[in-house]
Amino acid sequence: MNDSNNTYRAIEITSPGKLALVTRKIREPGAGQVRLKVEAAGVCHSDAAAVEGQWPGLQLPRVPGHEIAGRIEAIGEGVTKWKVGQRVGVGWYGGECGECESCRRGDFVTCQNPIIPGITTDGGYAEKAIVEARALASIPDDITAEDAAPLLCAGVTTYNALRNAKLRAGDLVAVQGIGGLGHLGVQFANRMGFTTVAIARGKDKEELARKLGAHHYIDSVAEDAAQALQKLGGANAILATAASGKSMGPLLGGLKARGKLIVVGAAMDPIEVSLPQLLFGSRTIQGELVGTAIDIEDALNFSQRQHVHPMNEVVALEQAPAAYAKMMSNGARFRMVLKM
Ligand SMILES: [Zn+2]
Ligand SMILES: [Zn+2]
Repeated sequence: MNDSNNTYRAIEITSPGKLALVTRKIREPGAGQVRLKVEAAGVCHSDAAAVEGQWPGLQLPRVPGHEIAGRIEAIGEGVTKWKVGQRVGVGWYGGECGECESCRRGDFVTCQNPIIPGITTDGGYAEKAIVEARALASIPDDITAEDAAPLLCAGVTTYNALRNAKLRAGDLVAVQGIGGLGHLGVQFANRMGFTTVAIARGKDKEELARKLGAHHYIDSVAEDAAQALQKLGGANAILATAASGKSMGPLLGGLKARGKLIVVGAAMDPIEVSLPQLLFGSRTIQGELVGTAIDIEDALNFSQRQHVHPMNEVVALEQAPAAYAKMMSNGARFRMVLKM
């Protein structure tokens, strides 16, 4: 850090696919904003939307990262709820527009013109970040910044998807994929009181899945996952976290009547479904996207009380290009986190 000469270090996307370490001038937060001293930033698969230049209207250079954990170090005009020194985090939801139909109906997470850190504004791969105060979530004292970072996106995504699915304690809930999202999904499903099934390819993840809280493990290479779920009585919900649409469609056959396939894993290939399976049994396929600041705060508090811990590989800020590449090649076990 070079506070003395009013600069800070950041990782910028200079052109699509290129990340570079740069020095920038420290700015003051505007009205309604705060400046964070970033302590940790998660590397998320959705960062690719910015890094690979795919996001419509993306402007470069841009600092990626939407899992930002740190401390408030400066406060803009009109911010009254937050204090300098407070530990806070910001996720994908960086502030709603307030004017679109979703916002007018109070559904901020589906805002049609949202602020997204690391995409529409500079994000967390940096020693400093300026964010909207209304997007802040308070971080409990006994969660470290490294542990908080992945909970701000991957955590709230799986937590919210499960808690909003109208499930009841004891319901059979399967989590497909034991990766960045799934290893958290299994923990949340277990802690929320569901009979938890982990579905992954191969035997190697079984031991870990059981340690995270899975009561059953299905190796989708050795057996048909849908049939295996039906042998357990059928799932009330399946949280699909794999980055593959192709792998999700056949899971529909593993649901009970009125069961839900909840999609949180982002992939570009389509989901193919059997219409009889969808219709006969009135099953549902639904997408879920992160949560608002208060949802994040709930996810952090729940994780702290119920001992939900992300498994992280923590590296220094300047290692961001390697960390991003490792995450993109599916090599991370399970979340890459930059520590400032
Ligand atoms: Zn994310
Ligand atoms: Zn809006």
